[in-house]
Order: sequence, then structure tokens, then C-alpha cells
Amino acid sequence: MNPQEVLPICIAGEWRLGTGDRYGTRYPATGEVVAELNAASLADVEEAVQGAHHAFLTSGWAQRKPHERAAVLYRVAELIRAQAEPLAQRQRLDNGKPISETRALVASAAGTFQFFAAACETLEETITPQRGDCLTMSVYEPMGVVAAITPWNSPIASEAQKMAPALAAGNAVVVKPAEVTPLMALELARICEEAGVPRGLISVLPGKGSVIGDAITKHPLVRRVSFTGGTTTGKHIAHIAADKMMPVSLELGGKSPTMVFDDADLDHAVNGVLYGIFSSSGESCIAGSRLFVARSQYEAFIDRLAHGAAQLRVGDPADERTQMGPLITDRHRDSIESYVAAGVDEGGQLRTGGVRPDVAGLPNGYFYTPTIIEGLDNHARICQEEIFGPVLVAIPFDDEDDLIEQANDSVYALAAGIWTRDYKRAWRVARAVQAGNVWINTYKQFSIATPFGGWRDSGLGREKGRLGILQYMEQKSVYWGLNEQPLPWANH
Ligand code: NDP
Repeated sequence: MNPQEVLPICIAGEWRLGTGDRYGTRYPATGEVVAELNAASLADVEEAVQGAHHAFLTSGWAQRKPHERAAVLYRVAELIRAQAEPLAQRQRLDNGKPISETRALVASAAGTFQFFAAACETLEETITPQRGDCLTMSVYEPMGVVAAITPWNSPIASEAQKMAPALAAGNAVVVKPAEVTPLMALELARICEEAGVPRGLISVLPGKGSVIGDAITKHPLVRRVSFTGGTTTGKHIAHIAADKMMPVSLELGGKSPTMVFDDADLDHAVNGVLYGIFSSSGESCIAGSRLFVARSQYEAFIDRLAHGAAQLRVGDPADERTQMGPLITDRHRDSIESYVAAGVDEGGQLRTGGVRPDVAGLPNGYFYTPTIIEGLDNHARICQEEIFGPVLVAIPFDDEDDLIEQANDSVYALAAGIWTRDYKRAWRVARAVQAGNVWINTYKQFSIATPFGGWRDSGLGREKGRLGILQYMEQKSVYWGLNEQPLPWANH
């Protein structure tokens, strides 16, 4: 990529420079500018939403038969797969994740388009039981213009998870990627156009969320927002949605408990806990960031865990062997450091990590070591607030009731992990823990066929799953009169 070129953005099918401020996106491993672009302006938002509305009404996309829309979306999946390696490399530059992870994200984006193409062509509308002389049906209609607002931590996968079902449902989509990671949304828009999604149906508007995201959310022609990001922003969007009587889905933050019982397979548990918190440098909504270990096993387990954490390969995202790349920005690393300092101030002890490592050849990267803190109880600030980085707090527990109480004592309820060989206990705890997603003897595994979302401050609504497409459709009931005689009431 040539950082001298200013990248065009996509405004209702027109690829041109945004009319907002110029800025550069940076490679977190070096701090160097990867791409320059002009952010969208409020005028661009207006043009994009009006253009999307026009395309929705006139392009014929919503009227195409489901299998015809599906054929285009299968093609999107094929095109993503055909360019998988360049896309993965670009995503690495966009947000600094290790190449092994960005390859997986690209593969997941292709799988998402394929899945929602299938969901589109197999979606059934139903004839409902008759209670009179009517044929009664439940059918679904597209909503019109929908918005997708995404964070910086898993760009191409997050955008695919919203764009694929929204397009499958027949809508137009306005995407607002995170300001710091706009490149993959632009790539997806280009690929969708190449696959045959009508021009104008997709816009990608990089820029500040508080300006551009806010304007998109408030726009009267935007009939739904699918948001992934922080809980504070999610609540702000929910307020706007309430005023507009607009449905939203909110995939928000987490502070997920991982629970290791005394009968767990410790080899599996050590590996699973390390993966659960430190993969993606902990910049993951479902990171297992609160660890509860049975007191009888606590010392031995934390020893092994700390040893494992210290062995993780933190470094160059371009290296196939790297397990943890840099954090997204210097500012984000500062915030993680201030959380670690707060934990120590409250009486926590660092078991490992808590420093900026020297990474050969990358002195300006935003690296941070995998960190484990212990000696705090669940009410400490760093046990309650989402850090969104490679920081694990470890707490011993005495019995199952005490554990469940602590695990559920959080405003968040996104995910939980359980490590035990006792299948009855696994079931009991899985049902008792309050979380949208529970992993038993595994962690951070996903299937596009399985719904995903959180409870309480972790969000509203579900993405993924065969019925995920319905989030982007309005349900309509149709009563089709079959009466031989006029309706009797008017008696006329
Ligand atoms: P933010 O909430 O700050 O940002 C998310 C997106 O919203 C960005 O595109 C942002 O733009 C935009 N935005 C910011 N303010 C507004 C506004 N007022 N109106 C509309 N849009 C706005 O989150 P982060 O970028 O910090 O992402 C990390 C958060 O995302 C974490 O809390 C994490 O847990 C959560 N997350 C949740 C997931 C889930 O599925 N539950 C998955 C991944 C992350 P800008 O770029 O300008 O900030």
C-alpha cells in the first residue's frame, strides 16, 4: 500500500475522497502510517443515507428472489477466499493482529457470507393456523437502510457479521468502521460490488463515532442499527433508538469468568485459560479476564499459568509464530497500564507481566506483556471494569455456591468458561452462570450457526445463527379473506 495515496471511501456507490478531515491509519507494530484518507463529513452521511434509500427503492435488490440474492452473496464468499492472503496481510497492517489470526478472520468473513446466503435462500415464511375464514401468514420484509457500526478489534469478521445478514435480508447498508481501522470495511464494499451487489446499496463512512456514527444513528431514514463496541457507546445508541422507536442490536463489553474446578484436566485448563485471555492480546469482548480457581489447586495452577504466560511469543505480527501482537494504539496501552497500576494500588500483586517488552526490530510498537494479577477480591476495580487487554485477575474460590455468586457479580454477562471433569457439575454451573455464551472444557470457540450475544450490560439481541437474518427484517402478518359471504357486521 502506498501511504502517499489518499484512499477514496464509498458513498452510496461513489468511490471518492471523503469531505471530512484527512488522517492516517497506523500499523500498531511500528506506529507508521499505512494509509491516508479523508474521513466522511456530515454532508457525506446525508448523501450516503439518501443514496442508500434511493438504491433500496430502485435497485430491485429487495425484490430479487432469495436464491438470486444468495447467488451474489455466495460470490462474495468466493471472492474473499480468492484474495484471502492479501486481505489477511492488509488486516494485519490495519490493526496489528498476528497474521495467523487475521487469516482466520478472513476465512470467517467468507464463511459468514456463505452462511447467510444459505439462510437467505432457505428462510421459510409460515402459514399460521386459521381461526376463521382467512388464510393467515407470517412473512418478512426488509427494513430499508440499516447501519452497521463496528469496533477496531476484529474488523473484517465484525463487518461481515452485519453486512451479510443485512444484505441477505434485502436491505441497503451504511457501515461506520472504527476510525482507526477502516481498511477492511472498504475492501468488503469493493468485493460486494464486484460480486454484483447493486451500486449505492453499500456505503462505508470512516470517521469519528461521536460525529459520524451519531449522525448515522439519528438519521430518520436509518431504520435499524447493529452496533458492536463499548457499553457506554451502546447505551447512547440505545437512547437514540428509543426516541426513533428503532430496533437495535448491541454487542457490548464483558468481564468474563473462567472457572477451574479441582477435578479439571489441568493441561487442557492451562492452555484454555491462556488462550481465553491472551489471544488477540486480550482485546476481545469475550476474553476470560476473571479467573476463579479451586483453592486446593490454586497455587499449582497459577504457577503453571504464569510460566505459560511468560513463554508466549509477543512480537512481530508478520511472523507466523507470533501469538500476541501489539495493542491497537499507544493510548490504549496507556489505559491498560493505568488499570494494572490501579490493581497494584488496591493491593494486588503482579504474578507475571506488567511491562512493555523489547521486541527486536519493532521499538515503536505498542506491545505489552501477558499479565496476571492476584491478591484482589472480586470487588476490586480491575475485577469489575473491562480492561480490553492482556490482563488476567486470578481469585481462589472455596465452593460452588461462593463461586457462582462471585462469577455473576458483574454488570457484564457476555461469556463464561468452565473446566471440570464432572459432567453433572458442568451442567449445573453452565445453567447457573449468567452469560450469553458458556464454554465447557474449551474457550473462545465459535460457530456462525450458533447465536451470539450478551445479557445485561453486555448487550441486547443476537447475531449469527440461521435466524440472525430476521434481525434485519420486519415481520408482517397477512390475513387473506376467503369468505363466501360479505363480513356480517355491517349488515349491508
Ligand atoms: P467504542 O464503543 O468506542 O466504538 C465502537 C464503534 O462505535 C466505533 O466505530 C466508534 O467510532 C463508534 N462510536 C463511538 N461513539 C459513537 C457514538 N456516539 N455514536 C455512534 N457510534 C459511535 O468501542 P471500542 O472501539 O473501544 O471497542 C472496544 C469495545 O467493543 C469493548 O468494550 C469490547 O468489549 C466491545 N466489543 C464487543 C464485542 C461483542 O460482540 N460483544 C466484540 C468486540 C468488541 P470511533 O472509531 O470513532 O471510536
